[in-house]
Amino acid sequence: MINLLIFGGLDGIGKNMMAFESEEAIIVLDVGIMFPDIDMYGIDKVIPDFSYLIEKKDKVKCIFITHGHEDHIGAIGYFLEHINVPVYGTKLSLGLIEHKLKERGMVSYDLRVINDSSVVDVNDFQVSFLRVSHSIPDGVMTVIDTPVGRIVHSGDFKVDYTPIDGKVMDLNRIAQIGQDGVMLFLSDSTNALKKGHTLSESMVGESFERVFKGITGRLLVTTFSSNIHRIQQAITVAKNHGRKICFAGLSMENTAKIAKKLGYLNFEDEDVFFIGDVDKYPDNQVLILTTGSQGEPLAALSRIANDTYRLFQIKTGDTVIMSALPIPGNEKTVYSTIDKLGRKGIKVIYEEESKMHVSGHAYQEELKLLLMLLKPQFFIPVHGEYRHLSAHAKLAEELGVVEDILIAENGNVINISSDGMKIINKLVLHSTYIDSNDMRLEDESLIEERHTMANDGVVAITFPIDHKGNIDGDLKVVSKGVTTNPEEFMTGLKDSIVDQYNHFSTMNHLDIDTLSRTLEDMVKKYMSKRIGKRPAVIPIIIKR
Ligand SMILES: [Zn+2]
Ligand SMILES: [Zn+2]
Repeated sequence: MINLLIFGGLDGIGKNMMAFESEEAIIVLDVGIMFPDIDMYGIDKVIPDFSYLIEKKDKVKCIFITHGHEDHIGAIGYFLEHINVPVYGTKLSLGLIEHKLKERGMVSYDLRVINDSSVVDVNDFQVSFLRVSHSIPDGVMTVIDTPVGRIVHSGDFKVDYTPIDGKVMDLNRIAQIGQDGVMLFLSDSTNALKKGHTLSESMVGESFERVFKGITGRLLVTTFSSNIHRIQQAITVAKNHGRKICFAGLSMENTAKIAKKLGYLNFEDEDVFFIGDVDKYPDNQVLILTTGSQGEPLAALSRIANDTYRLFQIKTGDTVIMSALPIPGNEKTVYSTIDKLGRKGIKVIYEEESKMHVSGHAYQEELKLLLMLLKPQFFIPVHGEYRHLSAHAKLAEELGVVEDILIAENGNVINISSDGMKIINKLVLHSTYIDSNDMRLEDESLIEERHTMANDGVVAITFPIDHKGNIDGDLKVVSKGVTTNPEEFMTGLKDSIVDQYNHFSTMNHLDIDTLSRTLEDMVKKYMSKRIGKRPAVIPIIIKR
């Protein structure tokens, strides 16, 4: 028997994680994070709920990593703290993971490098890999031979015939795998709504060449720090134009260091300068590669735009190239950065038409190509929101090569055999929220509390009672963030509470907890009626 367990990745881009369970073993594929929604105040990242695997800890044998993006590796430290098993991944993925684990202070871990000719035997599974193109080098497609048939997972991919590292996806081998027979195919749905074919990453290099040529001032390029091929292209073109480079922003500096050490980035140390020394170089010899392509408030480019970046001041004549599109949800912060720079007289090149960015996820024609080559018996679209998954399912249906298609959900346990796919269980998953100081919030109540405080403010009420439970003294009410004129409702609120309290004779026999909850309720109801808000309430009961 084979069960596929889906822990994340099917309700948005993030928390990618699934596992395959046979009679003998469980193997895990990716352990990613999701970046928080804008209203998850103070939350840095969201990690998937893998408590099911903790319960079956002894059966979990290892983790396979498709590539080094945060939505695939971000939660690995948290996972290994519970279930310390070997992690298989390509050299770059493991380099990034190791950096992460060291940062967490972990010393005991087992990272095992694989490449496209590796074969890993794990109990009744045999796992092999094919390289794919994506917006980070060294991504793989994973082929899992199970006792009931072959499963192929695409990983995040695009089909790029002219990739920067020259390593074109091995379409012949993919076709061969298809010939041999594939029971189940799981494939990246991120761009399933986009018609046509993605442009090659090398297009961006041509755009850089075109734009760099006409610029005499200083140049700043921002992109994701993990987009190493993009960074390489900027470096190469900069060098051709006699520019030296520097890295701004912690993740840009770290990734550049790791990628260079592992041989994925190519530049000479003498071509790099420290950003604090920028004034020592003529303007036309400067390229700054910076974080902040998503308008993240603490990233270098955002701070440069706000004049709060200590080491570098932007000036008229500088040009900023946004070599990334805003991820849906980030538009506001990205455009705000662009506007701030624009007001300072800085030229910002950012539109899609300027071809400063291409996607790392396959469009419809590429998705079809893989489906046609693999001709799987069953198909489950993954990595996307429902719209993407259903668009991908429709594509597969139209091709008519697949026997059955399933649009799954996070938490689904899907039994797979040559007879079919069947959802046999739905795990109730509760994501864990990680606070900015690495505090774990295991349930959502704290997020809800923060949400309430941010939207409706806070009311604190002190409530003095004597040993018989009678009100003994004045109630005090303090509010923050509720209204500009709190005096307006204070007296009314106090009177209403005293009134209700005295009215219900049973109330003064309540224990402290129940009394607190009742007071909370009273305040919320009153405020909701008066000003339409249900603030967070802090009842302080003073027993005299
Ligand atoms: Zn991804
Ligand atoms: Zn990715």
